Amino acid sequence: MKLEMTPEVQAVARARGAVVVLTGAGISAESGIPTFRGDDGFWTAGSANYTPEELATWSFFRRDPRASWGWYLYRRARTLQAQPNAAHHALVELERRIGARMVLVTQNVDGLHRRAGSDPEHLYEIHGNLGLMRCAAGCGGGRPRPLPDSIEAPASATEPLSPRSAEMLHCASCGGWMRPHVLWFDECYSEELFRAESAQCAFYAMDLLLVVGTTGATSLPAMAGRIAVRRGVPLIDLNPEAGYFADLARRSAGGMVLAGAATELLPLFVEQFLACWGAPAG
Ligand SMILES: [Zn+2]
Repeated sequence: MKLEMTPEVQAVARARGAVVVLTGAGISAESGIPTFRGDDGFWTAGSANYTPEELATWSFFRRDPRASWGWYLYRRARTLQAQPNAAHHALVELERRIGARMVLVTQNVDGLHRRAGSDPEHLYEIHGNLGLMRCAAGCGGGRPRPLPDSIEAPASATEPLSPRSAEMLHCASCGGWMRPHVLWFDECYSEELFRAESAQCAFYAMDLLLVVGTTGATSLPAMAGRIAVRRGVPLIDLNPEAGYFADLARRSAGGMVLAGAATELLPLFVEQFLACWGAPAG
């Protein structure tokens, strides 16, 4: 199978242009991680009393850090059972070839890009990472660090946190709670914690925007799409369902809409894009 590459996209590859790849829940769904906002999402699993928008907040954490951590440890355990898929690996291959000409901006907190081998240097996890925690009071500049490997995950999202786990989730400096290193609904994007400004700078410098498995429901990704259209940059939307980005892709200069599974279409796209990379026009 061959994809129909627009002349504009081929030109970007030949000129070794700057590529921004933006990924969302759709790429992880193909690894078996349910989409956050989908019907089968686990935002509400086992937490019937709360909507996801209530649970994933600083105010909920402040009220009940144990319940918040129980839910996050359960979710983290589910992501650890999943494996990076062919789409994650295709992006590693793209990066291996084009290096710093690529920035990978992800909305996903599952850590699958890191586990696939994407270089953290070029990876902006703008919504955080379930495998990291930081002091809730900001000790050590609030620098994130990995969750202890030996921490036990509760069997369900509503099961209480074990005393041993709770102990491991306290800060060695101040004795207060550590918190999940994720961006909550009642918090703002930040450069220091999530490289949000670096991501925006990349949007203004990109020659191509490749969007994989996201609906543009959150503000920073939606901004990337608008910037692409305004700057005359080709936008490629790869998603089984047409949505916000497919619409922008049709309006962008030389954009492409790839309707299908990322595990099938992304390796194909990367292969064809790399075949043009740095090649003379002909
Ligand atoms: Zn502390």
